Amino acid sequence: MQAARLHAYTDDMSEALRIDEIDRPEITRSDGIVVEVQGAGWCQTDNHIVEGMWTDYVEQTLPMTLGHENAGVVAETGPEVHTVSEGDQVICHPVMTCGTCRPCRLGEDMYCENLDFPGLTTDGGFAEYLLTSERAVIPLPDDVDPIDIAPHADAGITAYHASKKAVAELNPGDTAVVIGVGGLGHIGLQCLRADSAADIVAVDVKDAALDLAEDLGADYTVNSATDDVAAEIADYTDEVGAQQVVDFVGRDDTTALAPDIVAAGGDHHIVGYGGHIHEPSQSLVDGEFSYRGTLVGKYSELQELVALVERGDVDLLTSRYTLDQINEVAERLEHGEIEGRAVITP
Ligand code: NAD
Ligand code: ZN
Repeated sequence: MQAARLHAYTDDMSEALRIDEIDRPEITRSDGIVVEVQGAGWCQTDNHIVEGMWTDYVEQTLPMTLGHENAGVVAETGPEVHTVSEGDQVICHPVMTCGTCRPCRLGEDMYCENLDFPGLTTDGGFAEYLLTSERAVIPLPDDVDPIDIAPHADAGITAYHASKKAVAELNPGDTAVVIGVGGLGHIGLQCLRADSAADIVAVDVKDAALDLAEDLGADYTVNSATDDVAAEIADYTDEVGAQQVVDFVGRDDTTALAPDIVAAGGDHHIVGYGGHIHEPSQSLVDGEFSYRGTLVGKYSELQELVALVERGDVDLLTSRYTLDQINEVAERLEHGEIEGRAVITP
């Protein structure tokens, strides 16, 4: 089968991945599932992986097939798989877990002590077939096209997970700020809209992203390339600040906004990454705000997101590319030239 593989870390996205002919994956555990991949979203995390940004955090053996945002049709199942069978349409949560360690028993799937993360630690879905497991797949209704919904596997679940934590702290009349209305952010904004009565302010450096935010229900938008975000938020909230900020960028200039835009007792959720947090410790004491990390989401949250999608509460803006266009997608995302999400169709 054909697979888009990372052979060497590079900052040059025009040579990010190489299309190789490799063997179709084989089922090695009794709960294993091989999925024929129909759609695989390209995430900015793929750019980060190509740049070698994950080598300090996980073990990677190159060459490796990337792609952690997958949906398709079940092609083969291990002997102990009961919930899906050949021919079923599924969306694939990014990780394979053991189900029996303490975090798994607590439902904290992302903390599993025996975690495989196809596309990050094992071969992923920029290929004709993907090896995953029964716990990771959520069945899709027949009338849903897996290509249209694939980005929910990672962009969606991550945005929903962050939004759910924010919503737990939001009351009607509060303000939530979404920073970065790209692949993740355009979903996160809709999750906040669907699940809370807070006012939503969207921040981005691109007018096209802010237009999209407005279409998706943002109450107010700020272009941080031209406008003073702190002054705009202060004005919008009558100097109170935003109770919850969901940062889908996570660069130095966005994490630095927290002391000036988060309301007393509020949170700045770090979803995007690549930058640093440099604020004085005193700034967290004054006003008692917190930075909170976010890593993907739970299996059960993917079910909840699919339910929101079925209700028509969360739409995706996608564009489709073939497997051999993959480095073009990598470059375009790097240069901010993708609206919503690009989906590869292997
Ligand atoms: P994307 O490129 O599709 O979207 C990023 C958006 O942020 C774009 O609209 C861009 O214009 C905007 N932006 C860029 N710089 C900005 C700035 N300084 N201020 C305001 N807006 C800015 O990227 P994506 O695929 O949505 O990924 C977003 C981030 O989330 C990446 O860092 C990615 O690696 C990360 N991510 C995290 C997790 C997790 O589990 N925490 C999962 C998936 C992706
Ligand atoms: Zn486990």
